[in-house]
Amino acid sequence: MLLSNSFIPILRDNPSEAKIKSHQLMLRVGMIKQASAGIYSWLPLGFKIMKKIEDIVRQEQNKIGAQEILMPTIQSSDIWKESGRYDDYGEEMLRIKDRQNRDMLYGPTNEEQVTEIFRSSIKSYKSLPQLLYHIQWKFRDEIRPRFGIMRGREFYMKDAYSFDVSDEEALYSYNKFFLSYLRTFKRLSLTAIPMAADTGPIGGNLSHEFIILAETGESKIFTDKRIFDLNSDDTELKRDSLDNMRKKYEAFYAVTDEKFNKKEFEKIVTENNRLITKGIEVGHIFYFGDKYSKSMGASVDLPGGKKDFVKMGSYGIGVSRLVGAIIEAKYDDKNEIMKWPLSVAPYDIALIPMIKKNDSSAMEKTININNELLKNNIEAVIDDTDENISSKIKKMNLIGAPFQIIIGKKSEGDLLEFKEVGGETKNIPLSKIIETITNKKNSI
Ligand code: ATP
Ligand code: MG
Repeated sequence: MLLSNSFIPILRDNPSEAKIKSHQLMLRVGMIKQASAGIYSWLPLGFKIMKKIEDIVRQEQNKIGAQEILMPTIQSSDIWKESGRYDDYGEEMLRIKDRQNRDMLYGPTNEEQVTEIFRSSIKSYKSLPQLLYHIQWKFRDEIRPRFGIMRGREFYMKDAYSFDVSDEEALYSYNKFFLSYLRTFKRLSLTAIPMAADTGPIGGNLSHEFIILAETGESKIFTDKRIFDLNSDDTELKRDSLDNMRKKYEAFYAVTDEKFNKKEFEKIVTENNRLITKGIEVGHIFYFGDKYSKSMGASVDLPGGKKDFVKMGSYGIGVSRLVGAIIEAKYDDKNEIMKWPLSVAPYDIALIPMIKKNDSSAMEKTININNELLKNNIEAVIDDTDENISSKIKKMNLIGAPFQIIIGKKSEGDLLEFKEVGGETKNIPLSKIIETITNKKNSI
């Protein structure tokens, strides 16, 4: 991609209306454009990154056997009246009337819609479990939309729903999602900690919020530091292995403020292991049994001939919020350097030619390098403008491709001036650069 042809409207300075670094960077490099309060258009750079995040989320859902569907954004109020949430949900729900004067709404979540789909087709325990998910825009008329896309009114969410024959089976499904969340956030190069959470308006009995540490986060958290040393690398998709994984995490105190109890915290966690800080909620999983299946009549035939309501859970990931969350975790705002994890970077590498007047050689060399990179599935962004080298590097540092090649005086012959952003500059041949990037890509 040539920068001169791209739609990446970079601002010289930080926009004054943005209070946190993700909002600042996103406006600064033109990833998003506000349309109205809490509602944004996604411009090419931001959209590209969000789509890459979405792909990883999708792959990890598919790996646990969840099936993708797509439910509409606009829902009928009828199903919400059945579940009893039409009145309960309050002013966060955007209510609309169609031309026949029917009450419609822009979905803030999809428990009712998916239960309606389920009950019309699945009648027997033999078809269980069912794990369904979709990735779709949501609308919540948040009282205080802020921090850009972090707390928007319109936002992009992956929401999944599980249907099982018993509590025991439902917890197996719950644990599969628990694992898929750990794997998803790891691939996004984030350390997200599962924290015991209140079940809130969704209701129910078991819930975890997945939270990444950030000073600017809206969730207050209380935790035993040692939970950060855990990983799920050796967990398999089997009952025992999943059970052990969740037990391993639940052995450490980790809660948000709704569940916080000072006495308990101080009793369980020794002083040097206590951590009280803030974080960003990037995912939230719930088990709520027959809360919706009962009110909406979603039951299945059991082995003995009896019937029972299916046991359900729901599992959300804030796909659009994750774009901001990764920036909060990775952006060095003092030095104005963003380094996207290679798994979601908008470009793998930046090519920065030093272009002299009436001399096309640097640009020719750059095009040749780009052709080689393309052959190896490495995507580059090329600054073909005639700005000076230091302002080019500044721009590329904001765009955030994780690697850079400067095609100038120090790139003589076969040896190129190459660096991993934040690392040391090296003079190495293109073949070595391709090898380095390819190896890193393959290890994601
Ligand atoms: P929060 O406490 O942040 O309001 P929530 O508990 O209402 O979140 P869920 O209903 O569980 O959120 O939604 C699933 C995920 O969607 C959240 O974990 C979060 O990442 C994301 N999300 C929720 N509300 C918003 C919003 N207003 N803007 C952007 N993302 C959001
Ligand atoms: Mg909310």
